[in-house]
Amino acid sequence: MKPNSHFSRRDFLAASSAALVAANLLSPEESAAAPTSKLALHGGEKTVREPLPPFVRWGEPERAQLEAMLGQDSLFYWQGPQTTLFIERFREICPLEHVMTCSSGTAALHIAVAAAGVEPGDEVITSPITDIGTVIGVLYQQAVPVFADLGRNTYNLDPADVERRITPKTKAIIPVHLCGNPCDMQALRAIADKHGLILIEDCCQAWGARDRGRPIGTSGHIACFSLQNSKHVTCGDGGVVASSDERFGPLLQRFGDKGLDRLTRGGLFESFATNYRMSEPQAAVAAAQLSRLEDIATRRARLGNLLSEAIADAAGIEPHEVHPDDRCVYWFYMLRVRPEGLRCDRAEFVKALAAEGVPASAGYIPVPLYGNPVFQKHGFFAGRWPVKEHDLTSMDYTQVSCPEAEAILDTGVRVVVREHMSEKYVRSLAEAVCKVAGHYAT
Ligand SMILES: *Cc1c(COP(=O)(O)O)cnc(C)c1O
Repeated sequence: MKPNSHFSRRDFLAASSAALVAANLLSPEESAAAPTSKLALHGGEKTVREPLPPFVRWGEPERAQLEAMLGQDSLFYWQGPQTTLFIERFREICPLEHVMTCSSGTAALHIAVAAAGVEPGDEVITSPITDIGTVIGVLYQQAVPVFADLGRNTYNLDPADVERRITPKTKAIIPVHLCGNPCDMQALRAIADKHGLILIEDCCQAWGARDRGRPIGTSGHIACFSLQNSKHVTCGDGGVVASSDERFGPLLQRFGDKGLDRLTRGGLFESFATNYRMSEPQAAVAAAQLSRLEDIATRRARLGNLLSEAIADAAGIEPHEVHPDDRCVYWFYMLRVRPEGLRCDRAEFVKALAAEGVPASAGYIPVPLYGNPVFQKHGFFAGRWPVKEHDLTSMDYTQVSCPEAEAILDTGVRVVVREHMSEKYVRSLAEAVCKVAGHYAT
């Protein structure tokens, strides 16, 4: 919807909404929030006036599970009733054969990388826009995170760029389903199969998502989830790693449990690992939370898609892109401003949104992962990086560039979408976005 040079989109909207009000086609309430009315930032009326209902995350199911847990004589995970129940419910959501509960999403990813047999100097391709937990395990296994660029509006790995960054040292790919938006797993799986690579899915933000109808986590070789407090379902801190691949699945338990194989109880250590176990109290809460997941995921998907549809025609911004056959669960919603299409910078855009009552903030992480000082200085282990000192890698993070990822972080605007919001509330968020975009559009 590009306006012609003589008549801007804003003029058009002003003229048309005034005409609609005059013709009584807009109620006074709607006209107050029409895109051209005065911004709340400039003393105009606030668009989002409805207060949010309280956000209730836990209650009876969690209480009942904790009560049952307190009746046990052991709170240890191995064959514990709460852990067993959690795994059973997890399999209903993500039907994978081998499932290991653990202390965090970071732990799940570390276990996955270790079970995948990633060796010192091996390269693991992943996204530069993610929680640093995605790469912590890679670095602890003395492997090398390689960052590939992202899709402009999906904010997920661009399969073509992933393929360009494959070398003889590449061992695995970790697609991150950012915001719960599924990566293009068909393309990534094809690349992984062609080059003999292991696909480890980072599903930490993607509880309940579906890629082309498949439960998230079932298209790769190993799936990793987080139960940290900010995720859709949580037990404060926790994680789970799972696989149906017989090469990796049987190793997950021991890499989360000091290297000990509790099935064979060997006694002698053939390998060792750290202790990433999750105890029964966490499993009790997590199991109860999983009973809420389908409802949470359905609501979030509907609300996020609604927001996208309602702002699709707004000038100067680009909505979050989701494949129509996927279910994105919007851990957060992120639109992008087009600086060349707006007469304001992102900071002012966000300020104007906040004044309208929109829970919005600029960007996500401050810089792509490789831009952090620890990467720029290659100082992962007491200021040093043994794999580089021993020539197992020539990686130089000061030379890494992922232009689209950098642009996404510079132009992204995050909007909170949560399951307790009503559709009406989300429509008012969209109205506010359209009003602000309409005001600043060139
Ligand atoms: C939260 C998160 C992690 C890490 O999970 P923790 O439980 O906080 O360790 C990893 N990757 C992504 C994409 C995340 O959002």
